[in-house]
Amino acid sequence: MMPRVRPLLRFVLGLLMPHRCIRCGVTVGGAPGLCAACYPTIEFLAGSGCPSCGVAVPQPGLTCGVCLAAPPVWRRARSAFVYSPDSRDLILRFKHADSTHMAPVLAAWLHRAGADLLAEADLLVPVPLHWRRLFLRRYNQAALLARHLSGRTGVKADVLVLKRVRNTRPQGHLRRGQRLGNVRTAFAVTAPDRVAGKRIVLLDDVLTTGATLTACTNALLRAGAADVSVLTLARVLKGR
Ligand SMILES: [Zn+2]
Ligand SMILES: [Zn+2]
Repeated sequence: MMPRVRPLLRFVLGLLMPHRCIRCGVTVGGAPGLCAACYPTIEFLAGSGCPSCGVAVPQPGLTCGVCLAAPPVWRRARSAFVYSPDSRDLILRFKHADSTHMAPVLAAWLHRAGADLLAEADLLVPVPLHWRRLFLRRYNQAALLARHLSGRTGVKADVLVLKRVRNTRPQGHLRRGQRLGNVRTAFAVTAPDRVAGKRIVLLDDVLTTGATLTACTNALLRAGAADVSVLTLARVLKGR
């Protein structure tokens, strides 16, 4: 399409099919996303936090105390926003309702939060665990996000290369140590040749204790991945 036609087409489409707030559904002008009332309820994270985990640090490039004490297995991690009752509501809406229209907006947020990781990545791999268990029956939201993010960035997505090989107990009530034990051997790489030597960005909905993401990262590294970074919609901040 000619470059000058595209903004015009977008304008006309906007008149015909106005965007709706992805949280409350009211009509919004301009770009798709959140309405003015919902926007302040989501606490977006800037990309200048701790390189290992993304939490805010006093000075760009500083590694936080938690990561210094126990360095994560992944190289870097980024999240689009803070996990809170409001953002949890947004994620659940994306997971459970028929919310395919949210995917382009969420992918844009992931792109912004993970720009530095994505610029160096060879492959996008979604975490297969709870994404699938909870809502594969409707459609695979993680795969949908991966495809949109792939479309925006040109980084290839492989939604089948990481597989859940063992059912694990629900994680919610477990401590971090128990969680690690629970998921340690739950994941396998189906085709090591597809990840060998690749710089991988692992996608998930929420970074909580990191047990699931640690298990997935280890599976990818064992299969020969050059390095693994983590990109999630939300992250839990301690003390909130
Ligand atoms: Zn709204
Ligand atoms: Zn950190």
